[in-house]
Amino acid sequence: MKSYVLGFPRIGEQRELKVSLESYWKGNISLQDLEATAKDLRARHWKYQANAEIDCFSVNDFSMYDGMLDMMFLFGAIPNRFKDIENRTARYFAMARGDKTHTAMEMTKWFNTNYHYIVPELSQNDELNLDISKIVSEYREAREIVSESSLKINIVGIITFLKLSKRIDNKSNTLEFFDKYLAIYSELISKLSKIDVQVVIQFDEPTFVTSIGSEELSLLKIAYDKLGTVAENVKIIVATYFDHSVEATKVLVNTRINAIALDFILGEKNMESLEIIAKSDKRLLIGIVNGRNIWINEIQKSIDLLNKIALIVPKERIRIGTSTSLLHVPYSLQYETKMDSEIKSWLSYAVEKLDEVVIINKLFFGQILSHEETTFYNKNVKAVISRKTSNRVFNSEVRSQVENFIFKPREDFLTRIQKQHSTFNYPPLATTTIGSFPQTAEVRKARSDYKAGKISNDEYNNFLKLEISKTIKFQEDIGLDVLVHGEFERNDMVEYFGEQLDGFAFSQNGWVQSYGSRCVKPPHIFGDVSRPKPMTVDWISYAQSLSTKKVKGMLTGPVTILAWSFVRDDQPKSETSRQIAFAIRDEIEDLEKAGIDMIQVDEAAFKEGYPLRREDIPIYEKWAVDDFLVATAVVKPTTQIHTHMCYSEFDDIIKTIEAMDADVISIETSRSGNSLLKVFEQVGYKQEVGPGVYDIHSPRVPSVDEMVKQIDLLLQVLPERQLWINPDCGLKTRGWAEVEPSLKNMVEAVKVVRAKRI
Ligand code: GLN
Ligand code: ZN
Repeated sequence: MKSYVLGFPRIGEQRELKVSLESYWKGNISLQDLEATAKDLRARHWKYQANAEIDCFSVNDFSMYDGMLDMMFLFGAIPNRFKDIENRTARYFAMARGDKTHTAMEMTKWFNTNYHYIVPELSQNDELNLDISKIVSEYREAREIVSESSLKINIVGIITFLKLSKRIDNKSNTLEFFDKYLAIYSELISKLSKIDVQVVIQFDEPTFVTSIGSEELSLLKIAYDKLGTVAENVKIIVATYFDHSVEATKVLVNTRINAIALDFILGEKNMESLEIIAKSDKRLLIGIVNGRNIWINEIQKSIDLLNKIALIVPKERIRIGTSTSLLHVPYSLQYETKMDSEIKSWLSYAVEKLDEVVIINKLFFGQILSHEETTFYNKNVKAVISRKTSNRVFNSEVRSQVENFIFKPREDFLTRIQKQHSTFNYPPLATTTIGSFPQTAEVRKARSDYKAGKISNDEYNNFLKLEISKTIKFQEDIGLDVLVHGEFERNDMVEYFGEQLDGFAFSQNGWVQSYGSRCVKPPHIFGDVSRPKPMTVDWISYAQSLSTKKVKGMLTGPVTILAWSFVRDDQPKSETSRQIAFAIRDEIEDLEKAGIDMIQVDEAAFKEGYPLRREDIPIYEKWAVDDFLVATAVVKPTTQIHTHMCYSEFDDIIKTIEAMDADVISIETSRSGNSLLKVFEQVGYKQEVGPGVYDIHSPRVPSVDEMVKQIDLLLQVLPERQLWINPDCGLKTRGWAEVEPSLKNMVEAVKVVRAKRI
């Protein structure tokens, strides 16, 4: 084995798995149909890798919904609350998505990616029961289809599995289950050893790229000493990715495994482990083709790095592959028929990355390139140069604006909030919403008709105006204090802005799995970012013209735009973020000029952008906060800046949030009474806060009574002058049938509370 791929996407290049899953859930196709789609996809993905001449690739990187959920089925670790469901498939999907009588298991982000996994629920009394049928049948399938290739079986490693799980038995330390799980991982290896003459298992242990403690490191040693000796014919690779894992590598070189896979794209510091790897007998799998981003590999630069590594680690122990699973990038550029050809030449999706891996491999090991490969290589060299020199990437105006900028802070909060109170005159416990109103089928249809040229620009704009006016009227009728325009013109809170900014490109088919059947199509930030013209002023001004009440301007902040896009790899993220901050600043300035003096800048993804390692956090916080300030501190003291974050836990970042200095922040604390709000009180947070009073993620309509109770709880923590009352997130995923009564009840609840307090 010389070249390898850590894992391949599974949703299908035409989102076949999504389509089949959703049809199956609706009852339109049978389980056999769904399984047939899955089987076809696996076969196609293996063939892609085999045809590209990748030497070793994965089995069990496929999942019907999620790999962590599959791990629970592998171990028979089924939470009691799902045991009443007899049918295996019904149980699997109920755990993933809930059903009439079961709430779904929690889902959370896979490290700092936009992929979400199902969080296993473990408890002391779980009886484990190994079931390797999925792995065995997929392995057999692969053996038939790609008989010449070497296969490895992907399994989440024991420590990562435990660390990412949670306990539901009133305790929290999942590592207490280490012995029990070590036994079942051993049994797993012993069973898998029988399925082939030689078996290779890739245990993914990305938890070791985070700031990990000594307990985990000592368990790592125990685990892989044991697992490495279970079966002679089983070879073990331990893979980490998304950052460096120097501490873990130092441990792993002294265990009984065969190979260590490291990320040399996001984990440059892995260079520090080379000496110790060299002294050991381990193979080093070098992740050099980026599995997290979409840019072409600078092949010559990769070769240079490999040569540098080879000065330390003997070449015969080196293998070359992707830095992470390719799960995080789109499939193939072949569908991008509309993309600008120069920009397209700078891109590489999963299928193209396979060729990169193979060519780098051949060049490094001194093999002759085929004619086709030489063409590929030559194109690569040209594209690398064009990307480095293109004036579409570099914009000197943007750069000089950033360089020559002198930051002027706003007046201090306490002074400006008094001015704001006297001009706006909103009451304590002012009511508002987070921005979007239902994106109904009609709204989506109008947009797609417009994009397809079926309706004219005027027709589309009139449609949007009508939606806005209906929504303004509705908000006035129910008596909200601060209104919004409803965001009907926006497909997505990042894409909408990206489409209007220079430096952004969009794919037609660049889908990436977010969770289960859900996919996203992240914008590609390829160049210096600037704003050619106002993006939201017309819509907000129109909405404001319809009402004497305040309508909030509504923007997405730099960190969130960055987090939900593919970003440039030719400059630090912070530079790109700063450029976006200036674009947003320009927009805010224009909004203010147009008379909009309450402006919300959403930073829904602020917390997601946090680095995986503690030592990197201060740097991130510095630029992320500064960028928010650059964007917002342009306004007069009397203009009110709001922000919204889709989080409820602020304990660890409260000082950072405070430093962002928004006049009002709305957050997601609706499901936790007032406990999560207490930190705002403890640190003496002065700015105003709108803790969500009901959960918009559920279709349930909250009653007046329960929201009165919720508001009373909030008032135990913060004074009424500091509190706003709002739902916990935007309403775009809900229907009017729920939104109308929910918001009416919310306004009613505030009236009840106000009446009680006089
Ligand atoms: N203003 C946006 C909305 O209401 C915020 C969405 C979000 O926080 N994810 O839809
Ligand atoms: Zn939100």
